[in-house]
Amino acid sequence: MSIPKVRVRFAPSPTGPLHIGGVRTALYNYLLARQMGGDMILRIEDTDQTRFVPGAEAYIIESLSWCGIQFDEGVHVGGPYGPYRQSDRKHLYIQYVQQLLDSGHAYYAFDTPDDLEVLRSTHPNFQYDSSTRLGLRNSLTLSEGEVKQLIDAGTPYVVRVRIPAGEEIRVNDLIRGEVRVQSSTLDDKVLFKSDGMPTYHLANIVDDHLMLITHVIRGEEWLPSAPLHILLYRFFGWQAPQFAHLPLLLKPDGNGKLSKRDGDRLGFPVFPLRWTDPKTGDISSGYRESGYYPEAFINLLALLGWNPGTDQEILSIDELIRLFSLDRVNKSGARFDPEKAKWFNQQYLRMQTNDELTESFLLLLSEKGIQAKPEMVKKVVALVKDRVNFINELWDQSWFFFTAPNSYDEGFAKKRWKADSGSLISDLTSRMTTLKEFTTESLDTEIQHFLEEKQVGMGAIMNAMRLAVIGSGMGPHLTEVITLIGREELAIRVRRAISTLNNQ
Ligand code: GLU
Repeated sequence: MSIPKVRVRFAPSPTGPLHIGGVRTALYNYLLARQMGGDMILRIEDTDQTRFVPGAEAYIIESLSWCGIQFDEGVHVGGPYGPYRQSDRKHLYIQYVQQLLDSGHAYYAFDTPDDLEVLRSTHPNFQYDSSTRLGLRNSLTLSEGEVKQLIDAGTPYVVRVRIPAGEEIRVNDLIRGEVRVQSSTLDDKVLFKSDGMPTYHLANIVDDHLMLITHVIRGEEWLPSAPLHILLYRFFGWQAPQFAHLPLLLKPDGNGKLSKRDGDRLGFPVFPLRWTDPKTGDISSGYRESGYYPEAFINLLALLGWNPGTDQEILSIDELIRLFSLDRVNKSGARFDPEKAKWFNQQYLRMQTNDELTESFLLLLSEKGIQAKPEMVKKVVALVKDRVNFINELWDQSWFFFTAPNSYDEGFAKKRWKADSGSLISDLTSRMTTLKEFTTESLDTEIQHFLEEKQVGMGAIMNAMRLAVIGSGMGPHLTEVITLIGREELAIRVRRAISTLNNQ
């Protein structure tokens, strides 16, 4: 027997922005597909029209494309097993639900939502199942004629699956091993509604079958649905795909699933791209807009719940494809660590050449209206790149190379600006600006001479000088800054600092 080609799918519902847990699911599917020379499919599961959110599908596609996750088939690229949006496949589901009705594995139910609500409120553990179905209004309790009459009269109905009683259902999960469930714990889930729409369960199984999916890799929240899915495959007489349920992404602190609220509370994105809620206009931050490299984002997600079996943490997409295996996916949840996420970006930033960083930084500078010489920016980048996690932090670490401080750190000034600071740095500045050579070395030597001559300590002069040039106690080696801003700018900054700080 030949082994079928691996075919996996990412099957999101367009109910809002894609959570990073969803991106990780897509990534693991993608890694397996690429490793096995298989196909990766994007299917949009939009059967629940009440939860449809405009813009969500486009957002999902843009997010995955930013991450570099490519699809062989899908709603945006087409393919031989389309359409790939479930609302465009309605005609297909009808025939399959009919097949289950005909074989007795499903039945019509006419109980109204109100009827069921009453039952739920009077019987706290009420479930529509083998123990209750024979007391309810459905095609198992009504005559064939009555059922026909109700349907012909346009009475709303649902089609429910008939879960067999007293059976042990086994789900073989590639991550969790064998999971056994008693069928009596399952309810007769709705598969289809009289408006012609299938529910998730029916559409999902039919599509996975028709699209020849070999591996269903999805979040742990779908594990409770797996026994029902196994049963449906059996009822249809189809071979079920292999299942792998991925562990949850957990909050950085405490227990439970990582949510948007954790991101808001602790200040990190939980979505790949910025998202504007179409109803409320609320904006949620994204990894892309926060300055993450897609490669770093993918790398950090890959390691949330999987490891290569070594200590290696920095892995390119090609290495991930080569090393990934479902065997090494953890069963337990993966705690999200926002600081570690930044660390990943820092590692990728450091892998960039100074030329690449300069190019990105020039872009950011021009957005701020600053036209700087590339050679100068390159020197700045070399000086500060080890202090940043993101390109936009380059600005926080180096703005003083491009513009003079417009205020002076009060605390630092109080401690470091003395009565004679002004005259000392004014003297030193005149010496520096008249030097023949204006380099870090020549400036450092001149400072040494000056200190000896004046019999003052390094701290007394250089802190005041730093205050004048940068406005605070931060920044790299001061003469590096001074050589790059130039003589003229140095003189201007020093003059301004003296007139401001001497009068305070
Ligand atoms: N539509 C489901 C979701 O939104 C897909 C679950 C599955 O992959 O079977 O996550």
